[in-house]
Amino acid sequence: MIRDKETLDHITHTIRNFVNDQLVPLEHWVAENDRLPEEIIEQMRELGLFGLTIPEEYGGLGVTMEEEVTLAFELGRTSPAFRSLIGTNNGIGSSGLVIDGTEAQKQKYLPRLASGEIIGSFCLTEPDSGSDAASLKTTAVRDGDTYIINGTKRYITNAPQAGIFTVMARTDPQNKRAGGISAFIVESDTPGITLGKIDKKMGQKARIPAMSSLTTVSCQPMRSSAVSRVLGSKPR
Ligand SMILES: Cc1cc2nc3c(=O)[nH]c(=O)nc-3n(C[C@H](O)[C@H](O)[C@H](O)COP(=O)(O)OP(=O)(O)OC[C@H]3O[C@@H](n4cnc5c(N)ncnc54)[C@H](O)[C@@H]3O)c2cc1C
Repeated sequence: MIRDKETLDHITHTIRNFVNDQLVPLEHWVAENDRLPEEIIEQMRELGLFGLTIPEEYGGLGVTMEEEVTLAFELGRTSPAFRSLIGTNNGIGSSGLVIDGTEAQKQKYLPRLASGEIIGSFCLTEPDSGSDAASLKTTAVRDGDTYIINGTKRYITNAPQAGIFTVMARTDPQNKRAGGISAFIVESDTPGITLGKIDKKMGQKARIPAMSSLTTVSCQPMRSSAVSRVLGSKPR
């Protein structure tokens, strides 16, 4: 759905000019230097690109799916490294909070994701669990007011730059399928998190510090009040 064609045309035009004038000329430099210039990242923040899909009441632009696709076409005309930079904040790195976060969780994290102050990453895939995501092995065990999360996640986009992770972990060991899994917001400075090597991806140079890195995240085991931030009011 397009809510206001005039506004969308204006945003589309702004992004098209940004891509043509700023990003396309940088493509070779980005490929050779394997990073994005900080001034470009700052311009992306100023343009509101980190918060395209985040609701307006939390500082984003609140674009609809159709509007987002229109804008993605514009960003798709240049190196994917640029879109990867904003990709998780506009999707898997924020959508758990948008859909199922408590009001306090939304107030705490969404404005910072929308402004690009922090990056959100999504931790679902594991070394032995990809397409069949419901078979994941990471566990979260309640211990008083906190949870102890234990497991390894694989191919996590933007993990090295993340401020928060949405971590999927099994809270009901009796239920081996999706119904036994809960989502947690875990701050990246939580003790116990370690990152693996950066994965190389064909056609996506600018991994460091371009925020498009893929890597492994291990939580072995970690415990903190931050870990207790189950999305929504209670785990399954
Ligand atoms: C660029 C990139 C970024 C990613 N970012 C993230 C991220 O941020 N967070 C995250 O959690 N994960 C991320 N992933 C992981 C991604 O979600 C997984 O790669 C995906 O779920 C597939 O899992 P897999 O790689 O283990 O492949 P597999 O599940 O092992 O599949 C391998 C092949 O087998 C096929 N296959 C699997 N099951 C069946 C079946 N039942 N019937 C027929 N064919 C089947 C698949 O189609 C595929 O071709 C990322 C992956 C990539 C490539």
